[in-house]
Amino acid sequence: MDQTILNNLLQPKSVAIVGASTQPGKIGYTVIENLLKGGYQGKIYPINPTASEILNLPVFPNISAVPGDIDLAVITVPVKLACQVIEECGQKGIKALSVITSGFSEVGRQDLEQEMLDIARHYGMRILGPNIVGTLSNSDKLNASFAPFLPFPGKATLITQSGALLIAMDAITYTRKVGFDKMISIGNMADINFADLITWLDTDDHTSCICLYIEGLKDGRRFIEASRNTKKPIIALKAGVSAHGAAAAASHTGSLAGAVKVYGAAFQQAGVVQASDLNNLFDRTLALSLQPPLRKENLLIITNGGGVGVLATDAAERYGIPLKFAPEDVQSELKKHMPDYGSAKNPVDLTGMAGNDWYYKSVKFAFAHPWTDGLVVLYCETAITNPVEIAQAVKKAIDDSGVKDRPVVVSMVGGTRCDEAMQWLVENGIPAYPTPDQAMNSMAALREYNNIRLMNTGEVESCGPKSSRIAREIIAKARADGRSSLTEIEAKKVFAAYRLPVAETNLSRSEEEAVELATKTGFPIVMKVVSPDIIHKSDAGGVKVNIKDEAGIRSAYQAILKSCKTYKPDADIRGIAVQEMAPLGTEVIVGSINDPTFGPTIMFGLGGIFVEVLKDVTFRVAPVNKELVRQMINEIHSVAILAGARGESPRDRAALEDLLCRYAGMVYDLCDEVAETDANPVLVYGEGEGLKVVDARIILKKK
Ligand code: ADP
Ligand code: MG
Repeated sequence: MDQTILNNLLQPKSVAIVGASTQPGKIGYTVIENLLKGGYQGKIYPINPTASEILNLPVFPNISAVPGDIDLAVITVPVKLACQVIEECGQKGIKALSVITSGFSEVGRQDLEQEMLDIARHYGMRILGPNIVGTLSNSDKLNASFAPFLPFPGKATLITQSGALLIAMDAITYTRKVGFDKMISIGNMADINFADLITWLDTDDHTSCICLYIEGLKDGRRFIEASRNTKKPIIALKAGVSAHGAAAAASHTGSLAGAVKVYGAAFQQAGVVQASDLNNLFDRTLALSLQPPLRKENLLIITNGGGVGVLATDAAERYGIPLKFAPEDVQSELKKHMPDYGSAKNPVDLTGMAGNDWYYKSVKFAFAHPWTDGLVVLYCETAITNPVEIAQAVKKAIDDSGVKDRPVVVSMVGGTRCDEAMQWLVENGIPAYPTPDQAMNSMAALREYNNIRLMNTGEVESCGPKSSRIAREIIAKARADGRSSLTEIEAKKVFAAYRLPVAETNLSRSEEEAVELATKTGFPIVMKVVSPDIIHKSDAGGVKVNIKDEAGIRSAYQAILKSCKTYKPDADIRGIAVQEMAPLGTEVIVGSINDPTFGPTIMFGLGGIFVEVLKDVTFRVAPVNKELVRQMINEIHSVAILAGARGESPRDRAALEDLLCRYAGMVYDLCDEVAETDANPVLVYGEGEGLKVVDARIILKKK
């Protein structure tokens, strides 16, 4: 689809309001009123078959009566007329539509939405919405919406799935002084989606940071790709993280996946910074829209109060920012601008005696020093200083330092005088917050932005056509057999085709055959039931480990059959698997789901109670590179176990990283066939000793 049409949508030179109204309070009136109030410089064409004039503008009876071209049509007619007027827009040659009208898929009328889309496709038009508030742009003085005013000006752009929130956030921009250039209501996303707008905004000179409020993405992969290719910071607040994983899941992985974790993983891979709530979204947007990323680790805090300094230190730890002392030369220079009882460590405490001059000198020196990668300036209101003057001194110090590629944020703790000072700072390009926590959290956003960008650069594991062919043959046979899951033996063959190290496993149909296979494999062995009707084999008494001799095989064979028949009398038992007994190792679980939004997604966690009780697992959208996998492993709380706990040697992380990359490659390759998979457990050995997949499960997609 044609991206240039978004120019017509977001920077129109002429706007028609189809469904213009003479009645104040009606949306078809309000949009015209807002365009005028906002100071829109282009042409405005109200369309209404009966009126002659609205707000002193001549009205046209229909679209075709308008002389000349129209860049954008804003549709406000009742839903029953929508398709008809959109058809007329198509005939007129209009390319961009902003459909404010509601009553489509959001109320179950997918059919109407489809009809509208078909018309748009026919004429090569693009649709924003339906069911939206409209679009607002300060740089174009365009308020083509029913939100009452343009946002407080700045360089962020908001895309929101909630129209109500657009209006509320628009108002908040003035109280919070967080500046936006554009606000775009995306509504039902019948056509134009987040990915389209993100791609367009990447080239918009007026946008320095893209701010998203997301309820649910439609095409997760395109979102990831578009975001990853953007040169500007993107921050997202995802609402509705609780209900997602409710769908019944057949595998372990399926039951552990939830929107928080899957969306969280996807955002990381997309290079999108996350916000935890609305306030946090504003805080972080402010920093990302005004400041460069924190590229390295040396963050210095300068304060006039020990208390706020400690609070900032605590916050730094909370948000994962390591703090170090500055080198001696930096400390001794800073010492010159504080009394004896001050501290030049980190936080640098200028003490309550600090006035404009000390702030100016220490900030200028510290910010200009090559050691410093970023600066947090704190101020606690005092009786002897004027917050506005302090703010001005800080700003001048930053300017005079000549440094432009490092971030600075400020927190001023106090009353209305501090509010005034912070407003001044924000208007002059320096993010300022009422608490040290908010300042540090926003600095953390600048750091996260830097780090996630770096993570997404490595090559992903790709698999050869041979692996795919072998796997697909096995899957086709199972399907022909009327099954929707593979047996462990089949699943292991699929895993092996993708070079995953599986415990050697063979099928026996009699005691004799089991004995024969065991002599080939070598003792000790493990025996397991093979039945499409028994998914959790141990629960059915279908697993016997550490079998050392022929007698053991014979008794295990009978015991497994007996207990499985008791467990499920009509189970179709295909035989007993005889497999090599892998040595004891650290149990981990690797698995995958086919997420409704993001498609094939892998999971990793430690086995046993870490999975069962603590649900200590982490996800990534497949495929993945080594860097992502490393970070994925580090993300679980129980990661220390892999470094060697209880006297164990460190585990073979390199082998684990390899496995995860290949596993992701496998599920990505087979995503059209496979719904869920588990390798549970995988036994991980000491460094250089590798690992072994001892159980494998593959659930097929319903066809
Ligand atoms: P289930 O269907 O119950 O998950 P598994 O195949 O995972 O069955 O077997 C249950 C347990 O037996 C595993 O968690 C593992 O501890 C052990 N086990 C299974 N197969 C092997 C093997 N080949 N080598 C060593 N231990 C094994
Ligand atoms: Mg298992």
